[in-house]
Amino acid sequence: MKVLVMNCGSSSLKYQLIDSVSEAVLAKGLCERIGIDGRLTHKPTGKDSVAIEADMPSHKAAVSLVLSHLTDPVCGVIRDLSEIEAVGHRVVHGGEKFARSVVLNGEVIAEVEKCNELAPLHNPANLIGINACQELMPGVPMVAVFDTAFHQTMPKKAYLYGLPYEYYEKYKVRRYGFHGTSHSYVSKRVPEILNRDGASLKTIVCHLGNGSSICAVDGGQSVDTSMGFTPLEGLVMGTRSGDLDPAVLEYIAGKEGLDVGGVVNVLNKKSGVQGISGVSSDFRDLDTASREGNERAAAALDIFCYRVAKYVGSYAAAMNGVDVIAFTAGIGENDANVRAEVCAYLGYLGIAIDGEANRCRGEEKVISTADSKVTVMVVPTNEELAIARETVALVQ
Ligand code: ADP
Repeated sequence: MKVLVMNCGSSSLKYQLIDSVSEAVLAKGLCERIGIDGRLTHKPTGKDSVAIEADMPSHKAAVSLVLSHLTDPVCGVIRDLSEIEAVGHRVVHGGEKFARSVVLNGEVIAEVEKCNELAPLHNPANLIGINACQELMPGVPMVAVFDTAFHQTMPKKAYLYGLPYEYYEKYKVRRYGFHGTSHSYVSKRVPEILNRDGASLKTIVCHLGNGSSICAVDGGQSVDTSMGFTPLEGLVMGTRSGDLDPAVLEYIAGKEGLDVGGVVNVLNKKSGVQGISGVSSDFRDLDTASREGNERAAAALDIFCYRVAKYVGSYAAAMNGVDVIAFTAGIGENDANVRAEVCAYLGYLGIAIDGEANRCRGEEKVISTADSKVTVMVVPTNEELAIARETVALVQ
């Protein structure tokens, strides 16, 4: 079965066409600047890539352009649209309603719409993409795969904030967690790679990318994760602050003449390692700057690793032990220094890293020594493949 995986943002759309039998990517690409002007990058496997500027006044126009490229005689990979048998959509927020992926129909879409106010920047865009695909591919079964679903197994002690309980009851204010598709994929891959029984494994997944989160997975279930009501909680990220004293909001608002929304915008977009360093949110730039003697870049890297190590320690406590720590996403898969720095804090857990093995990049690999008490590994994430698998499982 050929499955189209769609990830729609407010002005962008990422896609992959995946053959579910071979799990090969037939084509992938990206539409950018939707509603502004429009740019498409289309990468068909085994053929030349295409990069064009093209008018994309709406998501429907963008999807239409993607479909015409997928079926194009030169840069296409299928003869006609009937070859696409299912579409899997990434949806950011499923609230408490969706603990797993679901086949999309009118009723489900209405329920997803109810989650919009929990993720006002993301869910409406996801729904616009779903709508556009349904109009252009009528009759093709579609599935929603939620970033929050995997974390619905968190116990109350992990998801409730220390706030008046009525805010949870009236407004659904609680911790939801994100990156669930990635945490689920990686935590399932770990026992497969190690040939161990996942049901008895305690794993801490460190998804370290531009957005970063950590997840404690006990016997295959998420029991805690570092992102909360929104993706702002937890680690210090590329541009997000992560955890801080909430009283800082009022103080900065007063000093800078901002309202709460203005401060939250700073916390989301101008903070994190970017805000600390003043250099970049990209760890490659921070590494270069730090080597050149930039102290703020060095501090940003230190702060990032320290926060990761503290979360790993707290999740080892939450699960009363840890068998495996898995690093994934852009930084986790590529940055050997970050992995080594984080693990240097974890000697008390009996963790020892094999310096040579840790030099790996973007491959599945155990990077701890044979006598390390905890297995540390790199497991590249593949959210698109996970979405395609979920989609096939539900439509077949
Ligand atoms: P997202 O999906 O959240 O946009 P990614 O998982 O793709 O993020 O991670 C992107 C980040 O990964 C970049 O901002 C950069 O900091 C980091 N990164 C990518 N490649 C490397 C590398 N070779 N070395 C160090 N960091 C890297």
